[in-house]
Amino acid sequence: MKFISKGSKLYSILFNKCPRCHSGKFWKYTNPFKNIFNKEKDNMHCSNCSLLFELEVGFWYGAMYVSYAIGVAIMLFLWGLSNVLFPEINIFNQIFFVIFFILLFAPFNYHYSRLIWINIFVHYKNEFL
Ligand SMILES: [Zn+2]
Repeated sequence: MKFISKGSKLYSILFNKCPRCHSGKFWKYTNPFKNIFNKEKDNMHCSNCSLLFELEVGFWYGAMYVSYAIGVAIMLFLWGLSNVLFPEINIFNQIFFVIFFILLFAPFNYHYSRLIWINIFVHYKNEFL
């Protein structure tokens, strides 16, 4: 599949790769749930092409917009899922169900929102191969 092969943005996002060279890792761990306990996450740079991931001061604030969009998508999905799985569910249990899973998926959301955000600004260059 061409859209998830090396050189596409989806490849960088799904496989935790540097957005410029697609060889070095963006996050230290590919598992989103391991990265939240990693203290070295500030001033991250690519081990292959040395791209400093924080392009400018406050760059990661923009990732909050992506995070918000992912959060809303997960919430709508869970709301729909709870209606299908538990047709008799009352509104308070449904809110609890959605909040519980949103918090559970927060590390996943954090992980992918930053990868998506940096991929908007940094494009693949194969000269770093
Ligand atoms: Zn790189």
